[in-house]
Amino acid sequence: MQRPKFKRILLKLSGEALMGYQSFGISPDMIKYVADEIRSVYDLGVQIGIVVGGGNIFRGVAASSYGMDRPSADHMGMLATVINSIALKDSLERKGIESRVQSAISMNEVAEPYILRRAVRHLEKGRVVIFAAGTGNPYFTTDTAAVLRGQEIHAEI
Ligand code: UDP
Repeated sequence: MQRPKFKRILLKLSGEALMGYQSFGISPDMIKYVADEIRSVYDLGVQIGIVVGGGNIFRGVAASSYGMDRPSADHMGMLATVINSIALKDSLERKGIESRVQSAISMNEVAEPYILRRAVRHLEKGRVVIFAAGTGNPYFTTDTAAVLRGQEIHAEI
């Protein structure tokens, strides 16, 4: 069996990576492909945390340029990342990979709250953890969230 170079990783996926050839939203074929790619790494025994963007659905800065209040627009952007996270979780689970979505904005019926220790526990148990809603703060992007979560879970890359 191949030995993985890294034991724990943080994968950042832009929302646009889920669009495929569409101009908006989530392509079912593309999300399946992404899930297959993740599965191939997961099968090596790597612990995987994921941060997904929301640019395929909504970007706060774009809406604010049309006059929308920036924090409101960014809240919508963060909700877009939750939509993508749930779609990815569903796709991973259909590949037989147990997954959890943890959201930086509380929405208990839909996702677990972000709790670092719980996230690490999931990773240790072989569950993929998808960190949704970015950092939970307006004026940031999911790239910042990826760096933050990566550091917090001690991802090696
Ligand atoms: N967002 C935010 N705070 C965060 C992360 C994201 O307000 O910590 C909002 C912001 O409006 C952003 C949108 O969510 O435009 C989608 O995230 P991003 O643009 O990073 O998605 P990507 O480009 O990776 O698809």
